[in-house]
Amino acid sequence: MSHVIVVGGGIVGLATAARLAARGDRVTVLDKEDGLARHQTGRNSGVIHSGLYYPEGSLKARMATAGARSMAAFAAEHGVPVQVCGKLVVATEESELPGLRKLAARAAANKVPARLLDPAQVRAYEPQVRAVAALRVESTGIVDYAGVCRVLAGQIEAAGGRILLGEAMLAARTVGARVQVRTSVTDREADGLVVCGGLHADRLARASGLNPAARIVPFRGEYYSLSAAAAELVHGLIYPVPDPRFPFLGVHLTRGIDGHVHAGPNAVLALAREGYTWGKVSARDVGDALSWPGLWRMGARNWRPGAAEVLRSLSPAAFARSLSRLVPGITADDLVPAPAGVRAQAVRRDGGLVDDFLGADGTGPGARAERPVTGGDGSVGDRGAPGRGTGRGAAGRGAGAPGGEELSGTRAGRAEGAGGRWCTALSGPAPHDRRPATGIGGVRRPPSAGRRWR
Ligand SMILES: Cc1cc2nc3c(=O)[nH]c(=O)nc-3n(C[C@H](O)[C@H](O)[C@H](O)COP(=O)(O)OP(=O)(O)OC[C@H]3O[C@@H](n4cnc5c(N)ncnc54)[C@H](O)[C@@H]3O)c2cc1C
Repeated sequence: MSHVIVVGGGIVGLATAARLAARGDRVTVLDKEDGLARHQTGRNSGVIHSGLYYPEGSLKARMATAGARSMAAFAAEHGVPVQVCGKLVVATEESELPGLRKLAARAAANKVPARLLDPAQVRAYEPQVRAVAALRVESTGIVDYAGVCRVLAGQIEAAGGRILLGEAMLAARTVGARVQVRTSVTDREADGLVVCGGLHADRLARASGLNPAARIVPFRGEYYSLSAAAAELVHGLIYPVPDPRFPFLGVHLTRGIDGHVHAGPNAVLALAREGYTWGKVSARDVGDALSWPGLWRMGARNWRPGAAEVLRSLSPAAFARSLSRLVPGITADDLVPAPAGVRAQAVRRDGGLVDDFLGADGTGPGARAERPVTGGDGSVGDRGAPGRGTGRGAAGRGAGAPGGEELSGTRAGRAEGAGGRWCTALSGPAPHDRRPATGIGGVRRPPSAGRRWR
């Protein structure tokens, strides 16, 4: 039995830890917050994505389609609220039809059950929608992701694992066959370390001696809830035809598992990695983002959609106009501000968004990589195989899937198994929305002053 430290009490960390515990490893989960799922996992829209948007054959497409199934099955098996309710992707103008047809072809290639509808068929699903055509996707669902995390945490503890809150990882290094982890509370040692640090994943990779080829750039997704009257106009999930370059952009309407309808998200550069409002600013985080050439290159290429997102952030009227293209009648008066989420978008130096896994060689002490691989979710994963590379993989293949299948729609981490003792999952975004923040309480460890690893 190995002892593995898993950093991060979001869904990726918990799914990884639960899987390791199930295979017999002794697991210690650390999270810097005083509850689980306090960041992306507890601040998303709770949609189980079907895998519709991703290029055929990509790891992301395969993971998302398999994960949609395993997530729905896992939730149902464990009594977590879930519904595979399907969604509509709606073309509101003739000019969007080619894009919609391409999406239908991609659905077929990815084996996502979907069919094109004419306006009369659309009205059978969503009577208030304005559509010249739509794609009905059957396998999209809604789920309570915080509830999934609760179950995973229960599984970890039932298998003898520990979940320690209020304890931040500061750095890690390999010493002989072991990994030492410096935290805000103490120094810990284990046989393996898996870092699933979400918005801080790149920094934690660097603090482990790795040199990831991408940086996390935080994008805030802002949402509104619809007034009760406007919510009656929406039965399920209504999405616009996406720009294929940015499938996660485009505000949409989602009736969540709690029955409330939320609208959004837009996507604006956040001024702090945990910057859930414009008022939350971190000089370090802004400096990190602005000093990354990839951000400028991405901005230069995409300033036009970026400006539209900022406008939607600043103007509820502009936000409402985007929604009323899909469902006429929604106005700014129907929008009630709701908590935002921040996506950990991994951006390469050349400005490209990391869409799939990204492997990297370790460069730090003891981090000699033999096989660059491993995964984050649909974005970046880095692993340096330390020492002689004979250690057990910190996370086995498919470790992140709650159901134990090949991975979840929420982008669980995946490691290649043997040869590596470190694995960091730099999580990236999925296309989506959000809903009110839901965290999970837990055993609180008093945070103590951070100490530097020397
Ligand atoms: C607005 C928004 C909407 C989304 N909608 C959807 C959706 O509908 N469907 C979907 O499938 N996905 C959605 N996503 C994506 C999904 O939420 C993420 O892919 C997923 O939650 C990532 O999980 P994670 O565990 O990697 O990250 P997180 O949930 O962010 O967890 C990372 C954890 O690491 C901890 N941590 C960080 N640094 C340290 C440290 N130094 N020491 C200890 N702990 C640390 C944090 O406290 C946190 O708990 C959305 C994301 C956003 C932002």
